[in-house]
This record gives sequence, structure tokens and C-alpha cells, in this order.
Amino acid sequence: MDANIKRLTEQEILAILRAADELIGQGGRTLLAKILKGSREKKVVALQLDRCPVYGYFQSETLAVITEKIDWMISHDFLDIEYFGKLPMIVFTDRGWEIEADQRADEFLSEWNEWLAKDQPIPDMSYLKDRNRKMIFLFLEKVRETGDTKYIPYLEEWKKVDYKKVKAEISTTIHALTSGKGMDELSAHTRKRAIEEALLGEGPQDFLIKCWECGKRFTFTIGEQQFYKQRGLSQPKRCEECRLKRKFGEIF
Ligand SMILES: [Zn+2]
Repeated sequence: MDANIKRLTEQEILAILRAADELIGQGGRTLLAKILKGSREKKVVALQLDRCPVYGYFQSETLAVITEKIDWMISHDFLDIEYFGKLPMIVFTDRGWEIEADQRADEFLSEWNEWLAKDQPIPDMSYLKDRNRKMIFLFLEKVRETGDTKYIPYLEEWKKVDYKKVKAEISTTIHALTSGKGMDELSAHTRKRAIEEALLGEGPQDFLIKCWECGKRFTFTIGEQQFYKQRGLSQPKRCEECRLKRKFGEIF
């Protein structure tokens, strides 16, 4: 299945997750591959997917190779396929989303840093509204952890446009920054470790199952695990030999 594809690098994993973030629940493997390829196809341009920071990240690869990388991401528990009606859509797994939310929150923060460095007028903060809340809270946590009061004007502006729960969290952040209680290197460090672990962790692996019938151990491969999962089956209880014997009798 994906036996001939090497483990993706950390950068490649992050790039694919970032691209997937643009189309979660709106597109499948093909569209995702096209973003990463940097395709000029109508649909890509119409959905403004060419604005994604990793658009064209795998420019020099063929779509087939890029799709293999995406499939590697699926078989290694970073992304998943969910059917909406008959349409197979890309979705994040918990592990994939943990990494992407963190990367996205960092992206928001560096965007703020850029704007502040350029000393440009405070932007319209409604672009932060209606986003995944877990990710937004994580972003605010990161703002707090800097302990830097330079963000306060942005936070004040943002507070005016967002919903109650986010407002409350923004207030907490402003308060923490003003009172000098924001900075928290320990929690930042702990989170960083968790992300590293999620990135480097092995994900699904081949494993051994002891046969109910003959007691021999047999390998349940990643490929088979995917196959069973996609069909909603629970893992096999008997080795192949015993399964065939049950099915066809003693001729085997
Ligand atoms: Zn057996």
C-alpha cells in the first residue's frame, strides 16, 4: 500500500496539515493534492486556495506522488476520510488537529508580530471570528505567554467584535498582560513537547494478534488495519489459515 513511501519529514507533515486546513470537510484527496501542487485549476482559484501559505509546496512533484504522501498521512493517523453522502472528504484526526491548531495559532501570532513591526493601523479583527474555538483559545494562550503588552491594542479591538466566551478569554489575556502575570514558559514548554510527540509518534503500526483457534500469532498490518477500519469491521480473531479452514473445510 504505502510500503514504498518513506516516512514524511516533519516539514512535509506540517505543510500537508496546513493545506488540509483550507478545505476541511469541503474537499478530498485530489483537491488537497492540487493545492500542494500549486494547480491553477478553476476550482482551486475560485476557492482562493492559491492564497494558502503552502500552495505549491510540492510544486516539483507529480500529483500521483503528492497523493501518495497524502495517503501516508491518512494511514499514519494525521488525516482521515469521511463520507458526506457519497463524497469522500478530508478531515483531521485528533492527532492531526492537535498539531495543526498549534501551527495555526503560531501563524496568527507571527502575523500580529509582522503587522506590529510595520506599525500599520490596527486591522479589522473580525477575521478571527467564527474560527475553531479550541484554536482561538490556544492562540490567546500563546499571546499571554509572551508576557508582551504590545498586543493589548489588538486585543482591545478584537474584543469589540467577537462573541461572549471569546470576549471573556480576551479580557483574561489583557488582564494577565497588564498585571505582568502572562508569561509562562513552563506551560509553553509542556505544550511544545506534546506537539513534538504527536509529530514524531509512530501512529499505527503492524501488530501481532494471537489466533483464537490455533494460538499462533499473526501480523495485522497497517494496510489490513486500514481496510478493516474503512469497512467498519473489528479486527480478525483467527489467523488466515484458520479462517480459510472455517470457510472451505479441511482441504486447506
Ligand atoms: Zn489459527
